[in-house]
Amino acid sequence: MIRRLFTRQFSKISILRNDSLTLERQIIEPKDFKIHTSKPTNVKPLERTITAEKYDMKIAELDPVEEQIEPDLTSVAVSVADYFLGNTHHSHHVFYSNLINIKAKKAAKVENRKFIDLRLVRLTSGSGGDGCVSFFKDNFKVHGPADGGDGGRGGHVFINIVDQHAASLHAIKKRYVARAGSKGKGSQLDGKNGGDVIIDLPLGTVIRWIPEPHLFKKFMSGREGQSLDDIYMELKLDHLDNIQMFRDGFEAGSGWIFKEHDEEYFRDREFFSELNEKVKGFDEETIFEEQYNDRFPILGLDCNKVTEKPLLLLRGGKGGLGNMHFTTKDIKGPKFCKEGRPGITANFLLELKLIADLGLVGLPNAGKSSLLRAISKARPRVGHWEFTTLQPTVGTIFSSIDKDPFTVADIPGIIKGASENKGMGLDFLRHIERSGGLVYVVSLGTADPVADLKILLEEVGPERMKDKRVLIVATKADLSDDGKNYQKLREFIETNYQDWKIIPVCAPKGENVEKCIKLMGEIAKSEKKTDSL
Ligand code: GDP
Ligand code: MG
Repeated sequence: MIRRLFTRQFSKISILRNDSLTLERQIIEPKDFKIHTSKPTNVKPLERTITAEKYDMKIAELDPVEEQIEPDLTSVAVSVADYFLGNTHHSHHVFYSNLINIKAKKAAKVENRKFIDLRLVRLTSGSGGDGCVSFFKDNFKVHGPADGGDGGRGGHVFINIVDQHAASLHAIKKRYVARAGSKGKGSQLDGKNGGDVIIDLPLGTVIRWIPEPHLFKKFMSGREGQSLDDIYMELKLDHLDNIQMFRDGFEAGSGWIFKEHDEEYFRDREFFSELNEKVKGFDEETIFEEQYNDRFPILGLDCNKVTEKPLLLLRGGKGGLGNMHFTTKDIKGPKFCKEGRPGITANFLLELKLIADLGLVGLPNAGKSSLLRAISKARPRVGHWEFTTLQPTVGTIFSSIDKDPFTVADIPGIIKGASENKGMGLDFLRHIERSGGLVYVVSLGTADPVADLKILLEEVGPERMKDKRVLIVATKADLSDDGKNYQKLREFIETNYQDWKIIPVCAPKGENVEKCIKLMGEIAKSEKKTDSL
């Protein structure tokens, strides 16, 4: 459950009725996140660790606001290191010197194309239009009844998850702003709603809320390279672990626009105070709704399903009331109306995880790209130097008519120390984090393939291999003339990993490639990942 659709329309009429709105709901003071430089003792810590596995949040239907829901927010302290998935996680760089961009630029130079799979976006929904002060006019009545309409609603920000062929975030802008609603007009006409923003995100994008980057960066700038372990964010969470975001805006009972006299004049008048009491109740409802809806799951949204209709991320501000609502027995010609509610600005980190059924994991030069070329129509670059593959290529393999096709990602080579961020680090492994199987590609053309495999196993680590089916593809079988290297590798697998399968191939010559595809198909068997919502 992420966003709840505001289905309950507060009737404009209700504030004109004399039965006062009884609202005992507590309105929370808008407060941003707080940073602590040591573990705060007065705030309870978030009780569980944030891990990538827990990302898998259902993008559920938009639920209507339940009638009697109290905003039950609690403050929690979240370690920044945890929030960004451990200290070596690349998303930290967003808060430092944009290291990731440097990496991306390097990659773009080498590959001569853009490689961006991490994006910071700043999204703002539109503010509501102001109400209108107007009076009915015709030939007989010079000063007719108030007929100023309401302002239009500000534009919403939606996201759409689409299954793009070339999945990348490079088309995503840094900033999206939805349009403001128009002002109300005379003759009881409401202003037009502001235009919505709909952002298409590729399947496999993970969206996470992040604190205001410039504030955070300023704070972090003195700590470059230091551990984030002792930094905590204090956030407000609801009972479903959604972060409460805040929008500005007038307090309940203010936000008036006076066309005649000033605020002070009216505040002293009893007829106005009476009216304002009712309008205050209406405002409280509106603010409560904003708070109810301005929430985002702390674990982020794992967009692993295509959306049928856009998902509402940020809601536009409600339009202000026109003067037509403010005629009472004491107020015959109200020359005042209400401001529209502001939109909300929030920052999100978009991270693209390619959804491949299998990933080819191997040292540089092991023959991964050659293998992918041999088994699919994908054309990753084949080279004899390290890190040829900076952008993962995904190949689709149609093994036979009666079987589902599966996808295989060629990810950059892993080197010793990758788990400490050497080389390209393990950043790329997140592309296959949720794949059902792992394929280790080991070259038989090296001095000691068993040692090579051990490096891979160590860097990938048991955590990532948990519950995964594993296949070892021994490449460059042509280079191991006496077959000794293959023997050794097979013995190592047979003694240590009985459930794993192993197969020798020579990709350029197409030897054993068919068999390899068959085995890959077996370990790729996993539930379909692209069902729509
Ligand atoms: P990657 O870095 O793991 O993607 O490896 P590549 O697929 O780019 O291959 C690295 C080098 O090994 C290239 O020069 C390939 O031509 C060569 N190569 C790949 N597979 C074989 C093979 O089966 N036999 C031989 N002799 N060379 C191969
Ligand atoms: Mg390669």
